[in-house]
Amino acid sequence: MPRPILATIHPAAFRHNLERVRRAAPDARVWAVVKANAYGHGIEHVFDGMRGADGFALLDLAEAQRVRSLGWRGPILLLEGVFELRDLELCSRLDLWHTVHCDAQIDMLAAHKTNVPQRVFLKMNVGMNRLGFTPERYRSAWARLNALPQVDEISLMCHFSDADGPRGVAEQMAAFAGATRDLPGERSLSNSAAILRHTVEQAQATAHPEACVVSDWVRPGIVLYGSAPDYPEQTAAHWGLQPSMTLAAKIIATQIVPARAGVGYGSSFVAESEMRIGVVACGYADGYPRICPTGTPVLVDGVRTRTVGRVSMDMITVDLTPVPTAGLGSTATLWGRAANGALLPIDEVAACAGTVGYELMCGLAARVPVEVAA
Ligand SMILES: *Cc1c(COP(=O)(O)O)cnc(C)c1O
Repeated sequence: MPRPILATIHPAAFRHNLERVRRAAPDARVWAVVKANAYGHGIEHVFDGMRGADGFALLDLAEAQRVRSLGWRGPILLLEGVFELRDLELCSRLDLWHTVHCDAQIDMLAAHKTNVPQRVFLKMNVGMNRLGFTPERYRSAWARLNALPQVDEISLMCHFSDADGPRGVAEQMAAFAGATRDLPGERSLSNSAAILRHTVEQAQATAHPEACVVSDWVRPGIVLYGSAPDYPEQTAAHWGLQPSMTLAAKIIATQIVPARAGVGYGSSFVAESEMRIGVVACGYADGYPRICPTGTPVLVDGVRTRTVGRVSMDMITVDLTPVPTAGLGSTATLWGRAANGALLPIDEVAACAGTVGYELMCGLAARVPVEVAA
């Protein structure tokens, strides 16, 4: 029998969260961002729930190939563009649209032999300082691209560094608008945080209309997976999002721990009085962060309790005091939705680990079996 641990993917959540995005950006087309193997969910597992999107955005050519082999004929965008010249052959063969963020990529396009011109997204660096042309250099890059027979339509794109925080997007949006004012082409600006936080309604409500982002194409990632891009300022429930992944494992042993006895490696937890604990078949080798301290929330049979002691490679120990009926075979929900409908937001667990929901999803280990819910 395999270890009793399972990640369940909820296609209904993708449909719901996609609808949420469409309500926030009613006039935009939606790139469903499925990089990093669909944020750890598995591209094959999310595809059906996300096929209502207008396109798929990702980084990896192998992943683009997988999306095509699932039968997707619509747009696919490579968010970092190509890495070497021969990648362009695959772009031609699979009809991939790709980002152009540096001169070397324009050189590659100029050297690419093709009869079918390619659709590109020219990226501006508006302040993140990772990828893209500065506003000053953007127009000359556009002109160079526009002169190439290998290039078809040029769309204009940027990526905000602070859409989830107090700095917001107004300044970076102004830089983008200023440098693109008279350039033709579709625009793509917003990630999840910008989609939710910088809508028309929000801008009006805060009397900062300049902070409203309007895109022809939005690029939601994390919201589609039901995690809040700006936790803990806002929660997934606040934004009306549903979790797309549940990680659950069974209790494989219970112990009565006497007062003043320790639990787990290093005896980092010491029982104040006699207590019952459960041993859960999930550890850091499954992707549950080792750094999660005693007190990290967990659901046992849908009842909220806490972890105690150190996370080990294959096991976590949990306090059964609030769930006296739980025992061998009970289900511990590490994040997501329990059978009784109770929710444990991945963002809460991530915060205990000093990280974000993104990292926990992406860190789901290959050894964890994954099932797609009906
Ligand atoms: C990852 C990524 C996104 C999606 O970001 P979220 O915060 O998950 O919505 C959007 N655009 C680009 C360029 C990205 O790399």
